[in-house]
Amino acid sequence: LVELDNVNKHFGSFQALKDINLTIPEGQVAIVIGPSGSGKSTLCRTINRLETIDAGGTIRIDGKPLPAEGKGLAQLRADVGMVFQSFNLFAHKSIVENVTLGPIKVKGIKKSQANDEAMALLERVGVAQQAKKMPAQLSGGQQQRVAIARALAMRPKVMLFDEPTSALDPEMVQEVLDVMVQLAHEGMTMVVVTHEMGFARKAGDRVIFMDQGAILEDTDPESFFMNPQHPRAKDFLGKIL
Ligand code: ATP
Ligand code: MG
Repeated sequence: LVELDNVNKHFGSFQALKDINLTIPEGQVAIVIGPSGSGKSTLCRTINRLETIDAGGTIRIDGKPLPAEGKGLAQLRADVGMVFQSFNLFAHKSIVENVTLGPIKVKGIKKSQANDEAMALLERVGVAQQAKKMPAQLSGGQQQRVAIARALAMRPKVMLFDEPTSALDPEMVQEVLDVMVQLAHEGMTMVVVTHEMGFARKAGDRVIFMDQGAILEDTDPESFFMNPQHPRAKDFLGKIL
């Protein structure tokens, strides 16, 4: 569903991604881990076309190469949902409006239908009671669950999560992870940057370990955590476990 071939990314003379080749089949949950600065966020941002890639590489979603700009880009953004570390909700819109805005504006869905779908999604992530509130009135965990509902409202083919729980107070981490586990079990294709090892083991089909812009290890969670191969993966696990 997501295919990266020979993906390189330079920021000036600095190379943030080094020859990334990666295929993520439909329904797979790929966990991306690695030290700070290893290129995890850059990888997510290139898949969502928030960053361009160097000439010579290609990224395809569902067989289609990423569009450079224009209308195709809006469609791509609809196909690829993204949830960031900071919740990025629209501060001046209510919770339900945060979820309906994209479907109404980008997909042209009628307001009443968008509302019904938004309420169903908010129900699913456990914040339907908060629908009329403003983002600032919600806890961090609730806001992040709204951010997930907002991304899902576009009916994406793949969901990218970039450290979705790392800005949360510890007691709110699990409620967000629970929503993600549920999504994984429903068969959503997911790329998840996280250091939450419990989640990786429970929901992950695959662990991709990155360091200095390159993929050093790509294996199943059990092998990665029990028996990392690369010295830098061992070193990294030694620090976080
Ligand atoms: P963290 O765990 O801290 O979030 P990361 O693995 O997500 O790290 P990236 O944010 O992808 O790392 O950054 C990878 C490298 O690319 C870093 O060295 C960073 O400084 C550099 N980088 C990222 N974005 C830019 C940019 N817009 N301009 C220049 N350099 C950048
Ligand atoms: Mg990052």
